[in-house]
Amino acid sequence: METDLNRCKRCGQCMSVCPVYQATFREDDVARGKLALLESVETGTMRWSDRLGEILSRCLLCGACAQVCASRVETTLLIQLGRRRLFEDQKRGEPQNSVLRSVREGRLSARALLKGGALLQALACKKIPETSGLHLRFPLSFFTERNTVPPIAWTPFLDAFRPEPAANAEGPRIGFFVGCGANYLFPDIARALVRILGRVGATLVVPEDQGCCGLPAYVSGDTKTARKLAKKNIKVFESLELDAILTVCASCGSHLKALASLFADDPSFHDVADSMARKHMDAMTFLVNHLGIEGYLKALEPTGRQNGTKPLRVAYHDPCHLRIGQEITQAPRKLLQAVPGLQLVEASHPGQCCGHGGDFNRSHFPLSMKILERRMEDFEKAQPDKIVTGCTGCLLQFAEGISRRGLAGKIGVCHPLVLVEKAIAPCLIPAQRRKDLPVFQALHADAGQ
Ligand code: SF4
Ligand code: SF4
Repeated sequence: METDLNRCKRCGQCMSVCPVYQATFREDDVARGKLALLESVETGTMRWSDRLGEILSRCLLCGACAQVCASRVETTLLIQLGRRRLFEDQKRGEPQNSVLRSVREGRLSARALLKGGALLQALACKKIPETSGLHLRFPLSFFTERNTVPPIAWTPFLDAFRPEPAANAEGPRIGFFVGCGANYLFPDIARALVRILGRVGATLVVPEDQGCCGLPAYVSGDTKTARKLAKKNIKVFESLELDAILTVCASCGSHLKALASLFADDPSFHDVADSMARKHMDAMTFLVNHLGIEGYLKALEPTGRQNGTKPLRVAYHDPCHLRIGQEITQAPRKLLQAVPGLQLVEASHPGQCCGHGGDFNRSHFPLSMKILERRMEDFEKAQPDKIVTGCTGCLLQFAEGISRRGLAGKIGVCHPLVLVEKAIAPCLIPAQRRKDLPVFQALHADAGQ
């Protein structure tokens, strides 16, 4: 770690892109400052402390600093290693502040109970297992500080999903890693993906014993739990011999993509983790780059196009976990541009972070809102009917931003796949004509990885 820390030249380039630094102008909020402190600890001039833990927690792990760093310092990895060290030293390893714990300790106010009714009920009913990262995201402050609380689905997606008989036994085997956000909060996204692929004659393999990807545990420094959760998913998915594994949430996706690095020091699991990571693909990218879904959307019957009606203006937000974590910016835009009746508008500063950052939103809520405020200004100027984005964390953040700015009812927020599914749901393409479409041909070719 010390050698890697030495590579930082203190040039300050990371200051120009760090959303936290740009909201506070504190040196210890930018990667340069954090790395300098970590180096002091490594060289023995400073000690690990709760204060250092607090400083390391003031990072969204968005990766923007690593992206611009000319010295190729792996900033997020080093910050993460610092968090892990502190967690393992039990200096910051206190049990997470979950709602269930708050209930047990009687610390929830009546206001919180009213505001968080649906969610609280769901948590109390243990609809969300303790192993889900959502427990880390919903502490007491989630109910007392926010304007909006997402309703938990009464029936999680995985409980309701019933696989169809395979429509396309000869095509590639496509698995679906659902993730906690799409399973418990936004099952409409997961349903949309299943229906879109169903429309083009593909069947998804959706193992019901999959679990949390482990990202919330990982970013809080709890690598042991993150590995345990990852091992379970790897065993489930690798036993199915899939050609591709799709995700609909950028955060889960970026974590799956980096699975091999989680097992860098564990040869017994590294290769199988790498195999799963290589099969992973964001669902929007899969639809655009591998199935040619744009061709399908263009071939929709005229009834499926909203002839004569005003187009729905949608502004796409790049989640950091897609833009930086997976280097995906164009596929979602191409997908949206192909949907009949949609007009894609660009807000200024397209790569700006929304400030959610998973655990960051929980532990630094006012700062998270300050970062969101800047992003909301961009969107308000673009005047979209909907903000669309491919990360469940960003969706929660924008719902809050819309409410805070009094825009509820004027601007909505959803995942692009929900709009795609809405466009193709009423349209039937005859089986014979379907066979000529690139999407059908792609499904009958090799997996095309
Ligand atoms: S982390 Fe990279 S960009 Fe930031 S100060 Fe160090 S060398 Fe410069
Ligand atoms: S990962 Fe993002 S929030 Fe953290 S120091 Fe780098 S730019 Fe700032």
